[in-house]
Amino acid sequence: MTTDVTIIGAGLGGLTLARVLHVHGIPATVYEAEASPAARPQGGLLDIHDHNGRLALEAAGLTDEFRGLILEGRQAMRVLDPDGTVLFDKADDGTGGRPEVQRGELRQLLLGSLPAGTVRWGHKVSGVRSLGEGRHEVTFADGGTLVTGALVGADGAWSRVRPLLSSATPRYTGKSVVETYLFDADVRHPAAAKTVGGGALIALAPGRELFAHRERGDTLHAYVGLVEPREWFAAIDFTDAALATARIAREFDGWAPELTALLTECDLAPVLRPLYALPTGHRWDRVPGVTLLGDAAHLSIPNGEGANLAMLDGAELGKALAAHPDDIEAALTAHERAMFPRGAEAAALFADTEADEPGSGGDRLGELLTLLTGPGETP
Ligand SMILES: Cc1cc2nc3c(=O)[nH]c(=O)nc-3n(C[C@H](O)[C@H](O)[C@H](O)COP(=O)(O)OP(=O)(O)OC[C@H]3O[C@@H](n4cnc5c(N)ncnc54)[C@H](O)[C@@H]3O)c2cc1C
Repeated sequence: MTTDVTIIGAGLGGLTLARVLHVHGIPATVYEAEASPAARPQGGLLDIHDHNGRLALEAAGLTDEFRGLILEGRQAMRVLDPDGTVLFDKADDGTGGRPEVQRGELRQLLLGSLPAGTVRWGHKVSGVRSLGEGRHEVTFADGGTLVTGALVGADGAWSRVRPLLSSATPRYTGKSVVETYLFDADVRHPAAAKTVGGGALIALAPGRELFAHRERGDTLHAYVGLVEPREWFAAIDFTDAALATARIAREFDGWAPELTALLTECDLAPVLRPLYALPTGHRWDRVPGVTLLGDAAHLSIPNGEGANLAMLDGAELGKALAAHPDDIEAALTAHERAMFPRGAEAAALFADTEADEPGSGGDRLGELLTLLTGPGETP
């Protein structure tokens, strides 16, 4: 294939695609809105699953380098009642099949594996239009344009490429998370650190949940989940960190202090992240010369699969393009045929969460544990 593949978005999906294309000698350029790789913190730990993320890294030829990023012991898992009672406690015995890495380090590994200049930073796509016969014009926020015969939207939840294929837009799932960080936790936040232990912790109540992880060093990173409408959060002033923390903490009145410390002792201002999803089973009819992958194609409520799936999508699309060097339509058709059911299956894992009301959160415990630890290990 001599056409330069144009990839929009340097997330894990777009970068995996660029890398697999590079392995197969196919040129690609990635256009990324952010100004540099360091433009924003890349978020927390990702568990890379044997059945998707790991396969993508194999296709990218980066398995050994990936192994070097794994944080030992982080597959340990605890489930607690809101009152602090331990319901389930599993040590990391190395057999979990879901090794944990820092997302930023994984992204850096992929970036470093690409030829210099592959990623064009500071290129925010503002629009796309069809020129016919599989060719598309991409317009950037600075007014620049390019024309391509092979366009891939790997530009996440609010994809600018998606309208070429589908009129679907993400809708609010009914749940948001508030993200917190506790640094030097063993020394500065010992009760929370002891409670989280060496890996991850979950505590669930109807419509309320805490999920926390021990990251590199002794940083604790927590997601405080609340099933509430957008308006409920809009009434909270998140620019006032102390006020917002106190307001969210009120929702966890009666919970054990070593759990609520994950919120009340946070070292950075809590960040609100409303959770959106595309319709489960989102698909489209083939449009020549363009496709999507990752969240742009099948954004779902976080279920531990999204980044893994985006990487597998990127790897499989790269392999399909390499297998059909003279027939991009055959490659894109094969990619979409495999991706649609894969994305739908993963989205269905937690699809019922979209309808969660306060009162339904506890029902998810067994399901969540099965996902996190494998079948047959629920308490
Ligand atoms: C709170 C939370 C926790 C999560 N935890 C996990 C987890 O533990 N495990 C897991 O597997 N998944 C997790 N996910 C899901 C995961 O983050 C996503 O599924 C994954 O990042 C999707 O990768 P992607 O490459 O498709 O998109 P993204 O990672 O969103 O990357 C898209 C890229 O495109 C760029 N971009 C966007 N718009 C434009 C534009 N107009 N022009 C140019 N560039 C653009 C963005 O800047 C970004 O770099 C979580 C998600 C959330 C919200």
